[in-house]
Amino acid sequence: MANAECGIFKKSFRIPNSELRTRLYRMIIDFHTHLGRSRDGARQDLPSMLLAMRAFGVTKSVVFPIDEKNPGPSYARLNARIARLVKRQPNLIGCARLDPHDLKAAFHEIEEAVRCGFRAVKLHPRSDRFNAHLARPLFDMIAVNDLCVILHTGHEPNCHPREWLHFFKIHPKTFFVLAHSGKDFFREAIEIAKRHRNVYLDTSTLSYYRTAFILKKAGAKKVVFASDIPYSHLGLEIKKFQYLLPRAKQNLVFSDNAERILRM
Ligand SMILES: [Zn+2]
Repeated sequence: MANAECGIFKKSFRIPNSELRTRLYRMIIDFHTHLGRSRDGARQDLPSMLLAMRAFGVTKSVVFPIDEKNPGPSYARLNARIARLVKRQPNLIGCARLDPHDLKAAFHEIEEAVRCGFRAVKLHPRSDRFNAHLARPLFDMIAVNDLCVILHTGHEPNCHPREWLHFFKIHPKTFFVLAHSGKDFFREAIEIAKRHRNVYLDTSTLSYYRTAFILKKAGAKKVVFASDIPYSHLGLEIKKFQYLLPRAKQNLVFSDNAERILRM
């Protein structure tokens, strides 16, 4: 077994030898990964992420900061670390985490993201404690720069998909990925994704049942593969789609939809 420091405990992340395989797919893009050490104890370093990507045949990962201590104004310190890693690792796609409490800093982070070739921004209204109204000024600049928005959604306050509906409507050319598909509000997320061609769903950390429900109701065309490592296991998240979808449709989720959204 290969081990790496990842998850909550040292060496909690194991890859059984039977799972180690070379590329099964043309491409797998993981739309949701964190690097760093969270205040909640979860952590992931670069070597363990690269090891997992190699082991499970993931070609590219969209990477952004975790909920770390001293992130700097609007995550400036941690976004800069992501920028340094992305520069060295062509299989990582940069994504800047933004905190709209400091708008001036958030605008600066969008500028930096564009300068560094990042393709996305991440908004986490639950852990960074903001609502759609506070984030409103950011969207014009995000849209003008063709960045995609990865939005944490869930049943928690400020995270209901419908609270953000206004932005999906007024920025039809900007792609939005609803991370965790609204959790307990997955039915609401499905309806919104079906009605808006620029809204996609990420099923990371969701149960097998909910993932199946989303694929059935919204369709594989509206779902992007996302692991949310270190909060889930890359192999486990890949398996859900291998069990749920025929091979031809797996490609939509593993790469085709993401390539379009990331304008690759
Ligand atoms: Zn996450």
